[in-house]
Amino acid sequence: NTIYGSWKKISADDQSKDELYEMKVTFNRMIDHLRENFEKQEMFVSDASHELKTPISIVKSYSQLMKRRGADNPELLEESTEAIESQADRMQKLVEQMLLLAKSKDQDVYKLFNLIELGRSTAETFNGAYERDIIFNTSAQALQVNGSRDQLEQVLYILMDNAIKYSEEAVTLSIREKGRHAEITVKDNGLGISEADQEKIFDRFYRVDKSRSRETGGTGLGLSIAKAIAEAHGGKINISSTLGKGTVVTLSLPIHPTHEN
Ligand code: ADP
Repeated sequence: NTIYGSWKKISADDQSKDELYEMKVTFNRMIDHLRENFEKQEMFVSDASHELKTPISIVKSYSQLMKRRGADNPELLEESTEAIESQADRMQKLVEQMLLLAKSKDQDVYKLFNLIELGRSTAETFNGAYERDIIFNTSAQALQVNGSRDQLEQVLYILMDNAIKYSEEAVTLSIREKGRHAEITVKDNGLGISEADQEKIFDRFYRVDKSRSRETGGTGLGLSIAKAIAEAHGGKINISSTLGKGTVVTLSLPIHPTHEN
C-alpha cells in the first residue's frame, strides 16, 4: 500500500511515461531489496533469541534448584554451578560470534598481508593446542591479499576447529595459487556431511546434529561467519564432503594484483 501511495505521488509530476515506468521499477526493486534485508535481520534476531533462550532457562532452573535444595546438598551445588558455568560459556560464545557476524562486512581495516604467513602461524597454533597431526602444505613463499588479517584468521580458526571437532585423525591446511586466486583448503578424514546437509550448513545457527554439536560446543554460526567474511573479501567458500569419509572446505580469495612471489 505505502509503495503504491508513494508511486502515485511521483506520477503527479510531469515526467514522461517511460521515465515514470523506469522510476517505478527502480523504486520497487529498492523496496524489495530493503524488505528482503529487513526480513533477514528479523529472522536473525528471532533465531538468536531462540538460541539464547535454552541456556538462559537452564541457568534459571539450576539457580532455583540451588535455592530450594542447595543449602545442605554439596553434590547438587557442584552440579548446578558447573552447569551454570558451562551455559554462561555457551552464551558468551554465541554473543561473541554474533558480534563477529555483525562486523564481517567492515572493510575499513583491510590492508595487504601475506596469506602464507597467516596459514603457517594458524597451523602452528593448532599444532601446539591439539595432540593431532596438523599438516601445513604450500609451495608458495608469499601470497599477498588485501583484507583483514584478523578476520581471515578467524575464518581459518573456524575451519580448523570444525575439522578437528568432527574428525579424529590428521587435519591438513593447504594454500596454493590458482590463477588470480589463493586457494586455501582444510581437509579432514572425519564424519563427513550428507548432501542434504551440505546445502544448509552455511545457514546461521544450522547444526547437523544438535546434540552432538552442543556437546562439542558448536553454535552453528561458525560457517556463516566464514562465508560472510569470505564474501566481503570478494572470495568464496565451498564444501565437498562424503558422509563417513571426510570433508574438504575450500576458501578462495583474490590475490592482490601487485603480488610477487
Ligand atoms: P558449529 O559451531 O556447530 O560447528 P558451523 O556453522 O561451524 O557450526 O558448522 C555447522 C555444522 O556443519 C556443524 O554443526 C557440523 O555438523 C557440520 N560441519 C562443519 N564442519 C564439518 C566438518 N569438517 N566435518 C563434519 N561436519 C562438519
